[in-house]
Amino acid sequence: MTCYVDMFIMTRYIFVTGGVVSGLGKGVITASIGKLLQSRGYSVTAIKIDPYLNYDAGTLRPTEHGEVWVTEDGGEIDQDLGHYERFMDITLSKDHNITSGKIYASVIEKERRGRYLGKTVQPIPHVTDEIKNWIYRVSRKSGADFTLVEIGGVVGDYENILFLEAARQMRMEHPGKVLFVHVAYVPILKSLGEMKTKPVQHSVKELRAIGIQPDFIVARGEGELDDVRRAKISLFTNVDERDIFSAPDLEVVYELPLIFDKMGFGDRILEKFGLKSVAKDLSEWSKFVDVLKNSNKIVRVGIVGKYFRTGIYNLPDAYISVIESVKHAAAFHGYKPSFMYINSMDIEKDPSLLRMLDSVDCVIIPGGFGARGVEGKIMAIRYARERRIPLLGLCYGFQLMVVEFARNVVGLVDAHTTEVDKNTKNPVITILPEQEKLLVESRYGGTMRLGAHKVIIKRGTLAYEIYRAEAIYERFRHRYEVNPEYVDLLESHGFIFSGMSEDGIKQMGELRRDLHPFFIGSQFHPEFTSRPLKPNPLFSALIKYSVSGK
Ligand code: GLN
Repeated sequence: MTCYVDMFIMTRYIFVTGGVVSGLGKGVITASIGKLLQSRGYSVTAIKIDPYLNYDAGTLRPTEHGEVWVTEDGGEIDQDLGHYERFMDITLSKDHNITSGKIYASVIEKERRGRYLGKTVQPIPHVTDEIKNWIYRVSRKSGADFTLVEIGGVVGDYENILFLEAARQMRMEHPGKVLFVHVAYVPILKSLGEMKTKPVQHSVKELRAIGIQPDFIVARGEGELDDVRRAKISLFTNVDERDIFSAPDLEVVYELPLIFDKMGFGDRILEKFGLKSVAKDLSEWSKFVDVLKNSNKIVRVGIVGKYFRTGIYNLPDAYISVIESVKHAAAFHGYKPSFMYINSMDIEKDPSLLRMLDSVDCVIIPGGFGARGVEGKIMAIRYARERRIPLLGLCYGFQLMVVEFARNVVGLVDAHTTEVDKNTKNPVITILPEQEKLLVESRYGGTMRLGAHKVIIKRGTLAYEIYRAEAIYERFRHRYEVNPEYVDLLESHGFIFSGMSEDGIKQMGELRRDLHPFFIGSQFHPEFTSRPLKPNPLFSALIKYSVSGK
């Protein structure tokens, strides 16, 4: 069964490992390397390895793990896949995310089916073979010139050791086809005012102890690496000074490929593989970054959500794709966005906070789950509707727009979603019929209505004006829907369902234009298809309307 050496290997592999601490932005660094290679005329695909035992990210808490990215084929994945899709403008599948859960599930399933008959199934070679085969399969299927593989976590963790071991074996099996980029933290100690390289030295030592000599080091820190520190890192790690790059904190992360490019990172990678640049063009990208950095036209965007808080820290990470989509749309119209994050639970405690919405140009109500913070979101929706502030509701945001309208315009005061109130007399949002059974059986993982589905758009609506198409495809992740029994009543009061699925699920809704000039929501998540140079039409229209009233 061991066909783990890919005899027809055409693709080159670049592994990205992490050192010292997690949360260094390896995803952005990996995506930036991919962008550099693309700009030189090569095709690139990318795989993210998450060493946790969850099968996928679908059941992880947003405040703990950030956003769940949804792939076109319905995978619920770590947000790094979002960076890859955005930076490289590529479409990835759920197989581009490997977890320990997926690997072990597959090994155990094979063992039960007798695929290893007579053998003792062991971490090495059976688990490592499974990892390598998975990487080979995905990269062969994509047919790209380069496969980037980002190994989550930090070198020295117990849980990623088998992935690092598999990567080590791959380099041995394919000399000249596999490179390692090690991303490590270089802290600047406040008390000394000095950048310290010792943590990098130690993490490279750790990497070498498991048999991996990095080819490149990316020193991630608040500031730039200077020559003195570069020389020191080089001396202790055996990495040529020319192959040590700096990734300082950036106001606009999209600038990183440009910085790497200037430092010659792309050329050095090609050189090591013995390849030539086929092209070189980052000009459009550079213009996009320039607007986000330097435009003096500002659009103010309010996001009313509930996944901001982790302990005492306030993090908008759970809404990263929404935030990035706003940036793409704003830049497209020549604007730089400024965000106001409003916690819907705070609104519930102190409704006067709603006045904060007077100082934004538009409001977004993003997706979510469960009862917490729902009333605060409904209050924000009402505020925006009554004051004609442009509003975009996404998934749960869209469902709550329907609840708010049913309560405050139609007069069904107890209207609700059955996600929050199972016994409401007016369940304007109810569970999708096929989902009910899944929840009764506690089958939570990977069972929502997921991935890309067709949306048929009604002519003569705002949605049609925005998309200018009869049908589009967007990505979904939900269990509940607009209750078909209430559609006529809602429509008779001026709520228009402007997008549906082929089997009748209401997928977009808006207010009649005489009631509100820009009040629109989608059951899907447009944030998953927005790209830096190709903003999603819904975000683009929101920003355009917010800045020009058109
Ligand atoms: N909780 C809602 C549902 O399951 C909305 C989901 C979301 O916002 N992604 O339908």
